Amino acid sequence: MTGLQAIAELFAGPGARDYLGEPVTIGRHMRQAGALAEAAGAEGSLVAAALLHDIGHLRQPAGGSGGSSPQAMPSRGGLGGSSPQASTADSRHGDAGADWLSQWFGEAVTEPVRLHVAAKRYLCATEPGYFGRLSEESVRTLALQGGPMTAGEAAAFEALPFARDAVAVRRWDDQAKDPAVTPPEFAHFEPLLRTLIRS
Ligand code: FE
Repeated sequence: MTGLQAIAELFAGPGARDYLGEPVTIGRHMRQAGALAEAAGAEGSLVAAALLHDIGHLRQPAGGSGGSSPQAMPSRGGLGGSSPQASTADSRHGDAGADWLSQWFGEAVTEPVRLHVAAKRYLCATEPGYFGRLSEESVRTLALQGGPMTAGEAAAFEALPFARDAVAVRRWDDQAKDPAVTPPEFAHFEPLLRTLIRS
């Protein structure tokens, strides 16, 4: 299976079915984020990062270790959301997604994906009013992800090469939860992804 096929399957399967405590499916949320990046005139690699930022969540049910056990299933839709499994899964989904994507994509795609959770903690610490605009679910997971950054953490984050791109992804992520918006289908993004995937 090619990388593009593997990604398409995640959008078609768990992406079309699973929720993360928001009013849209994870796949719809991700496609909305990609479309927002595109509409903002972002570079292709950043559009791809926005589109793929939560791929780590879609990978969790299959797990890669034959994980069909109930314990391998992260809580979705808000029930049981305070279990330790959920907190671990949530804070790791950026890393897990970036590591998986690195089979096919360069850092301009993977690092904003990796850092988009940190970017939320960064914005909570540095941008007045940002916290107040977060969705209820984002506020809940913020605590599980370590809360707002300290001043030292924020300075270290800013020094990372893809910090700005991660913040951009984060802002599209935050906006991409609108059930009234119908984003483009995954196929719309396939030509772009093809140009970015290493052969
Ligand atoms: Fe997201």
